[in-house]
Amino acid sequence: MEKYQVLIIGGGTAGITVAAQLLRERPQLKLAIIEPSDKHYYQPAWTLVGAGTYRFEDTERDEKDLIPKGAEWIKESAESIDPEYQQVTLENGQQVDYQTLIVATGVQYNWNVIPGLSQSIGTQGITSNYDKKYTEYTWEALQQFQQGNALFTQPHTPIKCGGAPQKIMYLAEHYFRKEGKRANTNIIFATPGTVIFGVEPYKGALQKIIRERNIHTFFFHKLVEIRPQEKTAVYEVTNPEHIPDVNDPVNQKLGIKLEDDGRVVIPFNFLHTAPPQSAPDFIKNSALSKKDDPYGFVEVDQYTLQHPHFRNVFALGDVAGTPNAKTGAAVRKQAPVVVENLLKFIDEQPLEAQYNGYSSCPIVTGYGKMLLAEFDYQNNAAPSLPVNTSRPRWDMWILKKYILPWFYWHRMLRGKG
Ligand SMILES: Cc1cc2nc3c(=O)[nH]c(=O)nc-3n(C[C@H](O)[C@H](O)[C@H](O)COP(=O)(O)OP(=O)(O)OC[C@H]3O[C@@H](n4cnc5c(N)ncnc54)[C@H](O)[C@@H]3O)c2cc1C
Repeated sequence: MEKYQVLIIGGGTAGITVAAQLLRERPQLKLAIIEPSDKHYYQPAWTLVGAGTYRFEDTERDEKDLIPKGAEWIKESAESIDPEYQQVTLENGQQVDYQTLIVATGVQYNWNVIPGLSQSIGTQGITSNYDKKYTEYTWEALQQFQQGNALFTQPHTPIKCGGAPQKIMYLAEHYFRKEGKRANTNIIFATPGTVIFGVEPYKGALQKIIRERNIHTFFFHKLVEIRPQEKTAVYEVTNPEHIPDVNDPVNQKLGIKLEDDGRVVIPFNFLHTAPPQSAPDFIKNSALSKKDDPYGFVEVDQYTLQHPHFRNVFALGDVAGTPNAKTGAAVRKQAPVVVENLLKFIDEQPLEAQYNGYSSCPIVTGYGKMLLAEFDYQNNAAPSLPVNTSRPRWDMWILKKYILPWFYWHRMLRGKG
Protein backbone atom coordinates (compact mmCIF):
# COMPACT_ATOMS: atom_id res chain seq x y z
CA MET A 1 0.00 0.00 0.00
CA GLU A 2 1.11 3.56 -0.60
CA LYS A 3 2.82 5.57 2.09
CA TYR A 4 1.24 8.71 3.52
CA GLN A 5 3.40 11.67 4.40
CA VAL A 6 1.00 12.34 7.26
CA LEU A 7 -1.35 9.75 8.74
CA ILE A 8 -3.82 10.89 11.41
CA ILE A 9 -5.65 8.42 13.64
CA GLY A 10 -8.97 9.94 14.72
CA GLY A 11 -11.19 12.44 12.96
CA GLY A 12 -12.59 14.15 16.05
CA THR A 13 -11.83 17.65 17.27
CA ALA A 14 -8.06 17.25 17.16
CA GLY A 15 -7.75 15.11 14.03
CA ILE A 16 -9.89 17.35 11.82
CA THR A 17 -8.43 20.59 13.17
CA VAL A 18 -4.84 19.54 12.66
CA ALA A 19 -5.56 18.05 9.20
CA ALA A 20 -7.28 21.25 8.06
CA GLN A 21 -4.40 23.42 9.30
CA LEU A 22 -1.75 21.19 7.73
CA LEU A 23 -3.47 21.26 4.34
CA ARG A 24 -3.89 25.02 4.50
CA GLU A 25 -0.18 25.31 5.18
CA ARG A 26 0.86 22.72 2.58
CA PRO A 27 -1.97 21.66 0.23
CA GLN A 28 0.15 19.12 -1.64
CA LEU A 29 0.73 16.94 1.46
CA LYS A 30 -0.28 13.35 1.02
CA LEU A 31 -2.44 13.04 4.12
CA ALA A 32 -5.03 10.54 5.34
CA ILE A 33 -7.37 10.40 8.33
CA ILE A 34 -8.38 7.06 9.83
CA GLU A 35 -11.85 7.50 11.38
CA PRO A 36 -14.60 4.87 11.55
CA SER A 37 -17.52 7.10 12.50
CA ASP A 38 -20.02 8.59 10.03
CA LYS A 39 -20.79 11.35 12.50
CA HIS A 40 -18.82 14.04 14.29
CA TYR A 41 -20.05 15.62 17.54
CA TYR A 42 -19.62 18.95 19.23
CA GLN A 43 -19.33 17.44 22.71
CA PRO A 44 -19.15 20.69 24.74
CA ALA A 45 -22.85 21.27 23.99
CA TRP A 46 -23.85 17.91 25.51
CA THR A 47 -23.94 19.65 28.90
CA LEU A 48 -26.63 21.94 27.51
CA VAL A 49 -28.49 19.00 25.92
CA GLY A 50 -28.58 17.32 29.35
CA ALA A 51 -30.11 20.49 30.77
CA GLY A 52 -32.78 20.70 28.07
CA THR A 53 -31.47 23.91 26.51
CA TYR A 54 -29.83 22.60 23.29
CA ARG A 55 -30.97 20.04 20.74
CA PHE A 56 -28.87 16.90 20.46
CA GLU A 57 -29.27 16.94 16.65
CA ASP A 58 -27.50 20.29 16.59
CA THR A 59 -24.36 18.74 18.12
CA GLU A 60 -24.05 16.27 15.24
CA ARG A 61 -22.66 16.68 11.69
CA ASP A 62 -21.72 14.26 8.94
CA GLU A 63 -18.03 13.42 9.10
CA LYS A 64 -17.81 13.46 5.31
CA ASP A 65 -18.56 17.20 5.30
CA LEU A 66 -15.72 17.91 7.73
CA ILE A 67 -12.88 15.95 6.15
CA PRO A 68 -10.77 18.75 4.67
CA LYS A 69 -10.32 19.00 0.93
CA GLY A 70 -7.15 17.17 -0.06
CA ALA A 71 -7.33 14.66 2.81
CA GLU A 72 -8.13 11.02 2.20
CA TRP A 73 -10.64 9.46 4.59
CA ILE A 74 -9.90 5.88 5.58
CA LYS A 75 -13.24 4.91 7.07
CA GLU A 76 -11.99 2.20 9.40
CA SER A 77 -10.80 1.71 12.97
CA ALA A 78 -7.09 1.54 13.66
CA GLU A 79 -6.34 -1.66 15.52
CA SER A 80 -2.61 -1.53 16.16
CA ILE A 81 0.44 0.64 15.57
CA ASP A 82 3.93 -0.52 14.78
CA PRO A 83 6.11 2.56 15.14
CA GLU A 84 9.30 0.64 14.28
CA TYR A 85 7.89 -0.24 10.84
CA GLN A 86 5.87 3.01 10.61
CA GLN A 87 2.71 1.10 9.99
CA VAL A 88 -0.86 1.13 11.29
CA THR A 89 -3.03 -1.96 10.98
CA LEU A 90 -6.74 -1.43 10.51
CA GLU A 91 -9.58 -3.51 11.89
CA ASN A 92 -10.09 -5.02 8.41
CA GLY A 93 -6.49 -6.27 8.46
CA GLN A 94 -5.21 -3.74 5.95
CA GLN A 95 -1.89 -2.03 6.70
CA VAL A 96 -1.23 1.65 6.18
CA ASP A 97 2.32 3.02 5.98
CA TYR A 98 3.26 6.48 7.13
CA GLN A 99 6.15 8.86 7.14
CA THR A 100 4.74 10.82 10.09
CA LEU A 101 1.89 9.87 12.41
CA ILE A 102 -0.48 12.02 14.47
CA VAL A 103 -2.39 10.20 17.20
CA ALA A 104 -5.73 11.90 17.94
CA THR A 105 -8.07 9.13 19.05
CA GLY A 106 -9.48 10.82 22.14
CA VAL A 107 -10.23 8.70 25.21
CA GLN A 108 -11.94 5.37 25.75
CA TYR A 109 -14.79 5.03 28.25
CA ASN A 110 -14.36 2.15 30.71
CA TRP A 111 -17.79 1.86 32.31
CA ASN A 112 -16.92 -1.54 33.81
CA VAL A 113 -14.30 -0.07 36.13
CA ILE A 114 -17.09 0.95 38.54
CA PRO A 115 -19.12 -2.16 39.45
CA GLY A 116 -22.82 -1.58 38.91
CA LEU A 117 -22.36 1.33 36.52
CA SER A 118 -22.40 -0.35 33.10
CA GLN A 119 -25.60 -2.27 33.93
CA SER A 120 -27.48 0.74 35.24
CA ILE A 121 -26.35 3.75 33.20
CA GLY A 122 -29.27 5.22 31.26
CA THR A 123 -31.87 3.77 33.64
CA GLN A 124 -33.35 4.63 37.06
CA GLY A 125 -32.14 8.22 36.99
CA ILE A 126 -28.48 7.16 36.54
CA THR A 127 -26.94 9.11 33.68
CA SER A 128 -23.96 10.81 32.07
CA ASN A 129 -23.67 13.69 29.62
CA TYR A 130 -20.34 12.19 28.51
CA ASP A 131 -21.96 9.60 26.25
CA LYS A 132 -24.17 10.58 23.34
CA LYS A 133 -26.50 7.72 24.26
CA TYR A 134 -27.43 9.33 27.58
CA THR A 135 -27.30 13.11 27.17
CA GLU A 136 -31.01 13.34 26.34
CA TYR A 137 -31.77 10.87 29.13
CA THR A 138 -30.16 13.30 31.60
CA TRP A 139 -32.82 15.86 30.72
CA GLU A 140 -35.59 13.24 30.93
CA ALA A 141 -34.36 12.13 34.37
CA LEU A 142 -34.10 15.72 35.63
CA GLN A 143 -37.69 16.34 34.59
CA GLN A 144 -38.85 13.13 36.27
CA PHE A 145 -36.98 13.86 39.48
CA GLN A 146 -39.37 14.86 42.28
CA GLN A 147 -37.35 15.08 45.49
CA GLY A 148 -34.49 13.60 47.50
CA ASN A 149 -30.78 13.43 46.69
CA ALA A 150 -29.44 14.60 43.36
CA LEU A 151 -25.89 13.25 43.39
CA PHE A 152 -23.19 14.53 41.05
CA THR A 153 -19.98 12.54 40.99
CA GLN A 154 -17.00 11.42 38.93
CA PRO A 155 -14.43 8.60 38.83
CA HIS A 156 -10.83 8.72 40.01
CA THR A 157 -9.37 8.42 36.49
CA PRO A 158 -8.40 11.37 34.33
CA ILE A 159 -11.47 12.68 32.50
CA LYS A 160 -11.96 15.06 29.62
CA CYS A 161 -13.47 18.40 30.50
CA GLY A 162 -13.04 18.03 34.25
CA GLY A 163 -15.61 20.79 34.78
CA ALA A 164 -18.48 18.95 33.09
CA PRO A 165 -19.55 16.94 36.17
CA GLN A 166 -20.18 20.19 38.06
CA LYS A 167 -21.64 22.20 35.14
CA ILE A 168 -24.70 19.94 34.95
CA MET A 169 -25.03 20.19 38.74
CA TYR A 170 -25.35 23.99 38.68
CA LEU A 171 -27.85 23.76 35.83
CA ALA A 172 -29.87 21.07 37.62
CA GLU A 173 -29.90 23.09 40.84
CA HIS A 174 -31.21 26.10 38.93
CA TYR A 175 -33.78 23.94 37.15
CA PHE A 176 -35.09 22.49 40.44
CA ARG A 177 -35.44 26.04 41.79
CA LYS A 178 -37.40 27.11 38.73
CA GLU A 179 -39.66 24.06 39.10
CA GLY A 180 -40.29 24.63 42.83
CA LYS A 181 -38.58 21.33 43.72
CA ARG A 182 -35.48 22.75 45.35
CA ALA A 183 -36.80 22.82 48.93
CA ASN A 184 -37.17 19.04 48.88
CA THR A 185 -33.90 18.39 47.08
CA ASN A 186 -30.39 17.87 48.38
CA ILE A 187 -27.69 18.69 45.84
CA ILE A 188 -24.56 16.66 46.54
CA PHE A 189 -21.16 16.81 44.83
CA ALA A 190 -18.88 13.88 45.74
CA THR A 191 -15.48 13.79 44.06
CA PRO A 192 -12.09 12.12 44.42
CA GLY A 193 -10.65 15.60 43.91
CA THR A 194 -9.35 17.67 46.79
CA VAL A 195 -10.90 21.02 45.83
CA ILE A 196 -13.81 22.25 43.71
CA PHE A 197 -11.41 23.72 41.12
CA GLY A 198 -7.64 23.88 41.06
CA VAL A 199 -7.09 27.43 39.85
CA GLU A 200 -7.71 30.81 41.48
CA PRO A 201 -9.66 33.05 41.09
CA TYR A 202 -12.17 30.56 39.61
CA LYS A 203 -11.91 28.34 42.69
CA GLY A 204 -13.02 31.16 44.98
CA ALA A 205 -15.93 32.07 42.70
CA LEU A 206 -17.17 28.47 42.65
CA GLN A 207 -16.78 28.06 46.41
CA LYS A 208 -19.02 31.10 46.84
CA ILE A 209 -21.67 29.61 44.55
CA ILE A 210 -21.54 26.34 46.45
CA ARG A 211 -22.04 28.11 49.76
CA GLU A 212 -24.82 30.39 48.53
CA ARG A 213 -26.71 27.58 46.82
CA ASN A 214 -26.34 25.12 49.69
CA ILE A 215 -24.57 22.40 47.73
CA HIS A 216 -23.13 19.61 49.88
CA THR A 217 -19.55 18.76 48.86
CA PHE A 218 -17.56 15.64 49.70
CA PHE A 219 -13.89 15.69 48.66
CA PHE A 220 -11.40 12.77 48.65
CA HIS A 221 -14.37 10.49 47.84
CA LYS A 222 -13.34 7.81 45.35
CA LEU A 223 -16.36 6.24 43.66
CA VAL A 224 -15.98 2.44 43.87
CA GLU A 225 -19.47 1.03 43.26
CA ILE A 226 -23.00 1.88 42.23
CA ARG A 227 -25.76 -0.25 43.75
CA PRO A 228 -28.68 0.40 41.42
CA GLN A 229 -31.14 -1.76 43.38
CA GLU A 230 -30.56 0.22 46.57
CA LYS A 231 -29.93 3.45 44.64
CA THR A 232 -26.73 4.14 46.49
CA ALA A 233 -23.20 5.10 45.49
CA VAL A 234 -20.28 3.69 47.45
CA TYR A 235 -17.05 5.58 48.10
CA GLU A 236 -13.62 4.96 49.56
CA VAL A 237 -12.39 8.03 51.37
CA THR A 238 -8.74 8.65 50.54
CA ASN A 239 -8.10 11.11 53.38
CA PRO A 240 -9.36 10.02 56.83
CA GLU A 241 -10.02 13.62 57.81
CA HIS A 242 -12.75 13.71 55.18
CA ILE A 243 -14.75 10.71 56.39
CA PRO A 244 -18.21 12.19 56.96
CA ASP A 245 -19.56 12.28 60.52
CA VAL A 246 -22.71 10.17 60.29
CA ASN A 247 -24.01 11.73 63.51
CA ASP A 248 -23.97 15.17 61.97
CA PRO A 249 -27.63 16.18 61.42
CA VAL A 250 -26.91 17.38 57.86
CA ASN A 251 -25.30 14.06 56.91
CA GLN A 252 -28.21 12.26 58.57
CA LYS A 253 -30.62 14.25 56.46
CA LEU A 254 -28.66 13.18 53.37
CA GLY A 255 -28.90 9.54 54.52
CA ILE A 256 -25.15 8.99 54.54
CA LYS A 257 -23.99 5.71 56.08
CA LEU A 258 -20.60 4.21 56.93
CA GLU A 259 -19.98 0.53 56.25
CA ASP A 260 -17.86 -1.65 58.55
CA ASP A 261 -14.93 -1.47 56.13
CA GLY A 262 -15.02 2.34 56.27
CA ARG A 263 -16.72 2.85 52.92
CA VAL A 264 -19.18 5.70 52.67
CA VAL A 265 -22.62 5.06 51.17
CA ILE A 266 -24.60 7.95 49.69
CA PRO A 267 -28.20 7.34 48.61
CA PHE A 268 -29.49 9.06 45.49
CA ASN A 269 -32.68 9.63 43.52
CA PHE A 270 -30.75 11.03 40.56
CA LEU A 271 -27.09 10.42 39.75
CA HIS A 272 -24.86 12.02 37.14
CA THR A 273 -21.33 10.77 36.64
CA ALA A 274 -18.50 10.77 34.14
CA PRO A 275 -17.30 7.36 32.95
CA PRO A 276 -13.80 6.19 33.96
CA GLN A 277 -11.48 7.04 31.08
CA SER A 278 -8.14 6.01 29.59
CA ALA A 279 -6.37 5.88 26.25
CA PRO A 280 -7.97 3.34 23.89
CA ASP A 281 -6.67 -0.21 24.51
CA PHE A 282 -4.78 -0.37 21.21
CA ILE A 283 -2.83 2.75 22.20
CA LYS A 284 -2.24 1.47 25.73
CA ASN A 285 -0.84 -1.75 24.26
CA SER A 286 1.40 0.05 21.77
CA ALA A 287 5.00 1.16 22.10
CA LEU A 288 3.78 4.76 22.01
CA SER A 289 2.12 4.85 25.42
CA LYS A 290 3.82 6.18 28.53
CA LYS A 291 5.31 3.24 30.39
CA ASP A 292 4.50 4.44 33.90
CA ASP A 293 0.99 5.61 33.03
CA PRO A 294 -1.81 3.23 34.11
CA TYR A 295 -4.11 5.00 31.65
CA GLY A 296 -1.77 4.46 28.70
CA PHE A 297 -1.77 7.96 27.23
CA VAL A 298 0.70 8.67 24.42
CA GLU A 299 4.12 9.75 25.57
CA VAL A 300 5.00 13.13 24.09
CA ASP A 301 7.12 16.07 25.07
CA GLN A 302 4.63 18.35 26.81
CA TYR A 303 5.85 21.39 24.88
CA THR A 304 6.63 20.12 21.37
CA LEU A 305 4.01 17.31 21.42
CA GLN A 306 6.54 15.02 19.73
CA HIS A 307 7.13 11.44 20.89
CA PRO A 308 10.54 11.27 22.62
CA HIS A 309 11.63 7.97 20.99
CA PHE A 310 9.62 7.74 17.76
CA ARG A 311 10.31 11.23 16.52
CA ASN A 312 8.00 11.00 13.52
CA VAL A 313 5.04 10.56 15.90
CA PHE A 314 3.04 13.41 17.44
CA ALA A 315 -0.08 13.34 19.62
CA LEU A 316 -2.62 15.92 20.66
CA GLY A 317 -6.05 16.14 22.19
CA ASP A 318 -7.40 13.90 24.92
CA VAL A 319 -5.10 10.95 24.13
CA ALA A 320 -1.90 12.94 24.58
CA GLY A 321 -0.03 12.19 27.79
CA THR A 322 0.42 15.85 28.66
CA PRO A 323 -0.50 17.28 32.06
CA ASN A 324 -3.02 19.85 30.79
CA ALA A 325 -6.80 19.72 31.28
CA LYS A 326 -8.22 17.67 28.40
CA THR A 327 -10.52 19.99 26.44
CA GLY A 328 -11.32 21.17 22.95
CA ALA A 329 -9.89 24.52 23.98
CA ALA A 330 -6.56 22.80 24.64
CA VAL A 331 -6.75 21.20 21.17
CA ARG A 332 -7.15 24.66 19.66
CA LYS A 333 -3.79 25.71 21.12
CA GLN A 334 -2.06 22.36 20.51
CA ALA A 335 -2.96 22.05 16.82
CA PRO A 336 -0.77 24.90 15.49
CA VAL A 337 2.15 23.56 17.55
CA VAL A 338 1.80 20.09 16.02
CA VAL A 339 1.41 21.58 12.54
CA GLU A 340 4.50 23.73 12.80
CA ASN A 341 6.65 21.06 14.43
CA LEU A 342 5.55 18.25 12.13
CA LEU A 343 6.33 20.30 9.04
CA LYS A 344 9.70 21.24 10.53
CA PHE A 345 10.32 17.54 11.16
CA ILE A 346 9.52 16.69 7.54
CA ASP A 347 11.82 19.51 6.41
CA GLU A 348 14.55 18.27 8.79
CA GLN A 349 14.59 21.55 10.69
CA PRO A 350 14.74 21.96 14.49
CA LEU A 351 11.36 22.00 16.26
CA GLU A 352 10.58 25.37 17.79
CA ALA A 353 6.86 25.65 18.50
CA GLN A 354 5.83 25.02 22.11
CA TYR A 355 2.46 24.39 23.75
CA ASN A 356 2.20 26.10 27.15
CA GLY A 357 -0.53 23.87 28.57
CA TYR A 358 -3.33 26.34 27.90
CA SER A 359 -6.78 24.94 28.53
CA SER A 360 -10.07 26.50 29.37
CA CYS A 361 -13.21 25.36 31.05
CA PRO A 362 -16.47 27.20 30.45
CA ILE A 363 -18.28 26.57 33.72
CA VAL A 364 -21.99 27.07 33.25
CA THR A 365 -23.36 28.06 36.64
CA GLY A 366 -27.05 28.25 35.72
CA TYR A 367 -29.34 28.98 32.76
CA GLY A 368 -27.98 32.25 31.34
CA LYS A 369 -24.77 32.32 33.43
CA MET A 370 -21.25 31.13 32.86
CA LEU A 371 -17.74 31.81 34.03
CA LEU A 372 -14.77 31.02 31.83
CA ALA A 373 -11.74 29.52 33.53
CA GLU A 374 -8.54 29.74 31.48
CA PHE A 375 -5.21 28.43 32.73
CA ASP A 376 -1.85 26.90 31.75
CA TYR A 377 0.52 24.10 32.84
CA GLN A 378 1.44 26.01 36.00
CA ASN A 379 -2.23 26.38 36.94
CA ASN A 380 -1.88 30.10 36.49
CA ALA A 381 -4.96 31.92 35.29
CA ALA A 382 -4.44 32.74 31.60
CA PRO A 383 -7.31 35.04 30.65
CA SER A 384 -7.63 35.74 26.92
CA LEU A 385 -10.68 38.00 26.85
CA PRO A 386 -10.81 41.71 27.67
CA VAL A 387 -13.47 41.18 30.39
CA ASN A 388 -13.38 39.57 33.83
CA THR A 389 -14.62 36.03 33.18
CA SER A 390 -13.93 34.76 36.70
CA ARG A 391 -17.49 35.53 37.80
CA PRO A 392 -20.67 34.18 36.21
CA ARG A 393 -21.80 36.39 33.32
CA TRP A 394 -24.59 36.41 30.76
CA ASP A 395 -22.29 37.24 27.84
CA MET A 396 -20.20 34.13 28.57
CA TRP A 397 -23.42 32.06 28.37
CA ILE A 398 -24.02 33.54 24.91
CA LEU A 399 -20.44 32.62 24.05
CA LYS A 400 -21.02 29.03 25.17
CA LYS A 401 -24.43 28.48 23.63
CA TYR A 402 -24.09 30.33 20.32
CA ILE A 403 -20.63 31.69 19.53
CA LEU A 404 -18.36 28.76 20.39
CA PRO A 405 -20.42 26.14 18.46
CA TRP A 406 -20.39 28.43 15.41
CA PHE A 407 -16.67 29.02 15.82
CA TYR A 408 -16.08 25.26 16.13
CA TRP A 409 -17.91 24.23 12.96
CA HIS A 410 -16.96 27.18 10.76
CA ARG A 411 -13.49 28.21 11.92
CA MET A 412 -11.67 25.66 14.06
CA LEU A 413 -12.54 22.55 12.04
CA ARG A 414 -11.77 24.47 8.86
CA GLY A 415 -8.26 25.20 10.10
CA LYS A 416 -9.01 28.89 10.40
CA GLY A 417 -8.57 29.58 14.11
C1 LIG B 1 -19.92 16.41 28.35
C2 LIG B 1 -18.69 17.06 27.77
C3 LIG B 1 -18.51 18.42 27.90
C4 LIG B 1 -17.39 19.04 27.37
N1 LIG B 1 -17.27 20.39 27.49
C5 LIG B 1 -16.22 21.01 26.94
C6 LIG B 1 -16.13 22.43 26.95
O1 LIG B 1 -17.03 23.10 27.45
N2 LIG B 1 -15.05 23.01 26.39
C7 LIG B 1 -14.05 22.28 25.79
O2 LIG B 1 -13.11 22.87 25.28
N3 LIG B 1 -14.10 20.94 25.77
C8 LIG B 1 -15.16 20.27 26.31
N4 LIG B 1 -15.25 18.91 26.24
C9 LIG B 1 -14.08 18.13 25.81
C10 LIG B 1 -13.87 18.05 24.30
O3 LIG B 1 -15.02 17.61 23.64
C11 LIG B 1 -12.70 17.11 24.03
O4 LIG B 1 -11.60 17.50 24.82
C12 LIG B 1 -12.29 17.12 22.57
O5 LIG B 1 -13.34 16.63 21.77
C13 LIG B 1 -11.03 16.29 22.37
O6 LIG B 1 -10.75 16.10 21.02
P1 LIG B 1 -10.07 14.74 20.53
O7 LIG B 1 -9.96 14.86 19.05
O8 LIG B 1 -8.88 14.44 21.33
O9 LIG B 1 -11.14 13.61 20.87
P2 LIG B 1 -12.56 13.40 20.17
O10 LIG B 1 -13.11 14.69 19.71
O11 LIG B 1 -13.36 12.60 21.14
O12 LIG B 1 -12.24 12.55 18.85
C14 LIG B 1 -11.61 11.31 18.86
C15 LIG B 1 -11.91 10.63 17.53
O13 LIG B 1 -11.08 9.49 17.38
C16 LIG B 1 -11.84 8.45 16.81
N5 LIG B 1 -11.25 7.16 17.17
C17 LIG B 1 -11.28 6.54 18.37
N6 LIG B 1 -10.66 5.35 18.29
C18 LIG B 1 -10.24 5.21 17.01
C19 LIG B 1 -9.56 4.18 16.31
N7 LIG B 1 -9.21 3.04 16.91
N8 LIG B 1 -9.29 4.38 14.99
C20 LIG B 1 -9.65 5.52 14.37
N9 LIG B 1 -10.32 6.53 14.99
C21 LIG B 1 -10.61 6.37 16.29
C22 LIG B 1 -13.24 8.66 17.40
O14 LIG B 1 -14.24 8.02 16.61
C23 LIG B 1 -13.37 10.17 17.41
O15 LIG B 1 -13.93 10.66 16.23
C24 LIG B 1 -16.39 18.27 26.72
C25 LIG B 1 -16.58 16.89 26.57
C26 LIG B 1 -17.72 16.29 27.07
C27 LIG B 1 -17.93 14.81 26.88
